Amino acid sequence: MEHVTVITHPLVQHNLTRLRDRRTGPQEFRRVLGEVAALMLYEATRSFAVEPVSVKTPLAPARGFHLSREVVLVPVLRAGLGMLDSILQLIPHARVGFIGLKRKETTLRAMFYHKSLPPDLRRFEVILIDPMLATGGSAVAAMDLLAELGAERVRLVNLVAAPEGIRKVHSRYPSLPIFTAAVDQRLNQKGYILPGLGDAGDRLFGV
Ligand code: URA
Repeated sequence: MEHVTVITHPLVQHNLTRLRDRRTGPQEFRRVLGEVAALMLYEATRSFAVEPVSVKTPLAPARGFHLSREVVLVPVLRAGLGMLDSILQLIPHARVGFIGLKRKETTLRAMFYHKSLPPDLRRFEVILIDPMLATGGSAVAAMDLLAELGAERVRLVNLVAAPEGIRKVHSRYPSLPIFTAAVDQRLNQKGYILPGLGDAGDRLFGV
């Protein structure tokens, strides 16, 4: 699948399996989701642009690199929060925006209940974070909002993706890079991913 990177690193897969396991309670779920998010971020940021800079060590000049652009992390509420803290530890200078989206149970359509983002996203690398890419409705709605605010470089990080969600996102944003630990079988009638891991927000917060 073009523009989809499945992160097959053994630690990512080990942690994903613990998250799938119904016996994993909220406390462990939170910790493991954070761990896996940090591991996934290495892959998701691999192609960030850098520019050469010179610094002086205590002994001699050295050549190095700085990130070319500022970074905005955008977790989709609620479940995206479970991946935020550990990613922030890796990119502590990142800004954080929030998008609150709810799925209407009857139509499965995504509806905004919260938006807070920097106004002009043109100069940022944007990382959109949502553990589950299910129907793709939330991801497309979030992408539409980011595009309205000028975002040009967005990557989407999901723990688990459904083929239906990937198709929907790529039908509207064909070159959006998607990073995921798994592409699962399909959605059930309620729009949950099979086998998935259940409702990520509920598992995270013990609801
Ligand atoms: N959201 C979830 O948390 N889980 C799914 O399977 C689908 C959407």
